[in-house]
Amino acid sequence: MNLDATTARAWIVRVAELIHANEQRLTDLDATIGDGDHGANMQRGVAAAVASLEEQEPEDAGKVLNSTGRELISKTGGASGPLYGTGFRRAGKELGDEVDVQAVARALEAMLRSIEELGGATQEEKTIVDALAPAVAAFQETSGQGGDLHAAASAAAEAAERGAAATIPLQARKGRASYLGERSIGHEDPGAASTALIIRALADVTAP
Ligand code: ADP
Ligand code: MG
Repeated sequence: MNLDATTARAWIVRVAELIHANEQRLTDLDATIGDGDHGANMQRGVAAAVASLEEQEPEDAGKVLNSTGRELISKTGGASGPLYGTGFRRAGKELGDEVDVQAVARALEAMLRSIEELGGATQEEKTIVDALAPAVAAFQETSGQGGDLHAAASAAAEAAERGAAATIPLQARKGRASYLGERSIGHEDPGAASTALIIRALADVTAP
């Protein structure tokens, strides 16, 4: 299976469903180590992204991700909005008309690199990067061994979920949670948790 416009749209719709179902959990996580708006921020951003896709119906996967990024930048807010928005825009640009699993691997890598560039975070600083970096690595490894899109996305989702859980013992070094210093230890990072949902959504919509 390839990532065509229909599957890319289904991915974003599924992201919105998973964010909606987890909105309270994301808000609670952010209330503990941040300012309690991550669930609402993400909900607003992905709802706008879905509405825009329904209106425009972009004709290739790259344009779907680009449009999603634009909406996330303008509607999500917080630190996460520009980071995810830029990440989706860069992924969309990278994807262009290419839709096979290798192209998706490069697009996800571009998403990670642009988020690292913009946010300046590296792994183990208790951010989105802690879920996205292992997800991209798992996606590349699985696709490199001949795994199809669903196999790669499933491995990536598991890695993202493990990465998000692994933020619990970390001290936050970037973003609002870093103001808490050692008091940020012992709680899952909300952005890493939402990243795991985004990657899980890709695994869900590529299932045979
Ligand atoms: P805000 O912190 O502005 O309220 P959100 O609550 O929407 O924004 O998002 C918080 C999440 O953003 C954090 O949990 C963290 O994962 C992520 N984040 C914050 N700063 C950075 C950064 N510099 N790089 C990567 N991710 C970051
Ligand atoms: Mg917040």
